Amino acid sequence: HLCFLLSLLYYLKLLKLYLFKRSTDQQLRIKVVYDSSIDNLDPEKKELVKDKLFPRAIDYLQKAFQVRKHAGPILLGRQCATNLYLRKKDDPHRYCQGACAENSYCGPILVPKEHLQQCMVCADNGKYWGPRGQPDGVGILDADFVLYVSGITTERCGQENIVAYAAYCQLEDALDRPVAGYANLCPNMISTQTQEFIGMLSTVKHEIIHALGFSAGLFAFYHSDDGKPLTRRNANGLPPFNESLGLYQWSDKVVRSATRLWDISGNRRLRHDVYLLVTPHVVEEARKHFACPILEGMELENQGGMGTELNHWEKRLLENEAMTGSHTQNRVFSRITLAIMEDTGWYKANYSMAERLDWGRGMGCDFVMKSCKFWIDQQRQKNQKLVPYCDALRSTPLQLTCRQDQMAVAVCNLQKYSRSIPQEYQYFDSIPGVAARDLPYYGGSVEIADYCPFTQEFSWHHSGEFQRTSDCRIVENQPGPSRNYAAETYSPESICLHQRTPFVMEQCTRRIIYPDWGSGCYKISCSAQGLTVWVHGTRHLCSRAGQILNINIQMNHWVYTGSLVCPSCFDFCRACPPEHDPPPANASRSIPLDPCSSSAGLVVTLWLLIINVVPVLVGFLLCA
Ligand SMILES: [Zn+2]
Repeated sequence: HLCFLLSLLYYLKLLKLYLFKRSTDQQLRIKVVYDSSIDNLDPEKKELVKDKLFPRAIDYLQKAFQVRKHAGPILLGRQCATNLYLRKKDDPHRYCQGACAENSYCGPILVPKEHLQQCMVCADNGKYWGPRGQPDGVGILDADFVLYVSGITTERCGQENIVAYAAYCQLEDALDRPVAGYANLCPNMISTQTQEFIGMLSTVKHEIIHALGFSAGLFAFYHSDDGKPLTRRNANGLPPFNESLGLYQWSDKVVRSATRLWDISGNRRLRHDVYLLVTPHVVEEARKHFACPILEGMELENQGGMGTELNHWEKRLLENEAMTGSHTQNRVFSRITLAIMEDTGWYKANYSMAERLDWGRGMGCDFVMKSCKFWIDQQRQKNQKLVPYCDALRSTPLQLTCRQDQMAVAVCNLQKYSRSIPQEYQYFDSIPGVAARDLPYYGGSVEIADYCPFTQEFSWHHSGEFQRTSDCRIVENQPGPSRNYAAETYSPESICLHQRTPFVMEQCTRRIIYPDWGSGCYKISCSAQGLTVWVHGTRHLCSRAGQILNINIQMNHWVYTGSLVCPSCFDFCRACPPEHDPPPANASRSIPLDPCSSSAGLVVTLWLLIINVVPVLVGFLLCA
């Protein structure tokens, strides 16, 4: 039969390509193809995307992952004129009934003709199965993955706060590894602000990781280390399809569900169902991270709707891990994310590229297997800090604190919602100043973190315009001299310190106290004597953690008075002397600077109320 012979020849040709293209250098090779929409962006954004974001992201991912099996050249299957795709037993091709579509797309992006396979059709009432029309394009050579990148304002971008989204669009035949995918950046959300570059970069890496393997749509295609599918296949070679999820149904070797006993307000306890990723490297890394040897797997996101749910790590548990579903702060790619990529069966992970994740580290089984209400109550009973959670209401004036890693000024994101939040996320039995009947309206501002309140960095906005973030290490965040109310210094050597009292700025006849206080950024250094805090050139040695430093300095014709709390030297310096009590204050230094040495003017205290400088907590959804 002629048709059969033709497709068999075709199959052999593909097999031959696999054999010849196998090489010993297994570095993952990602080829980026920019859509014309990228060239139509503002020149600044275009340059950012093409010259900085994607090259840096690809460089990181190529170092972080090795591909277990090279394939290539990459040719994409054509889309059919109708929605009906046909397959034949033992034939890797997809056939179209009658004809292929004029154009083929990967996500919203038109695939160039030279990247497409010849159209394969089933015609003449099933008598003919074979190629038709233009022959195969040259394909993409010397690449394991082709990423099409666009900057199109799609309908999805219109949804609230979506920065970008990505997906795979073709799997290879040997191990089902994705070989092609796309990333679309929503043009309005591309920020060219220097302070936001790190955040944009981690967004791009995040999206590419989805396309490479971390997607619920790919779970059913994962393979074991020795190359066997973890989910059984149907006769057509595919895993079973779950119509209600709209996804291929994975086996319980990949994802399993579990029920947690979940404490909420009013001493009630509910059953809370979760999905856990249970592949071997992920289980091992998650148990180590949380120090919980009985943990069955790493919880997946259960909120945020299609696109966010199941496609990310649970925000409550891995808050600033870069593969959680929203951008809040300080994102890091941890060993757990490298582990899931290894557990796809398609890559080897280079764990030296993993970044340190502090959130949840060593917190134990109660942290990772119970509600945050349970954890908060337990810490209160033990008279210990609630970190990383918090219970201070976000209100004016702001009560400033520090991010968990003390690298940024932060606020607790506990807030009032306009509607009562779902019952299973109502955690509060009392909040100072809040009537009992209003408690169901209160929760953390990040919904996908199961409404758990935690400290979060923020950015300052002035009349809707972005001004700066609260990250201590970014020089651009330094407030101008007239607005530096707490004598802060933002620099790579700075960290967030707690203030014991609000700072006062004084001139002879003026006195300013900024209403939002509690913490600020200050430079530190390490020496044999221990940790030193620098406030504009004045040094203060910390002899022990918790020591109060009285600050009294002159700067820009103002006298600043305030007090800072010493951090632990051991958290920031490699070598520290044993802690001891500070020497008694030097008498000559205890005479405060007089802002008014010449005349006794009338002192007016200004409680500055700069109403239009508002702190905004970030909560961009990354993919939806
Ligand atoms: Zn995502």
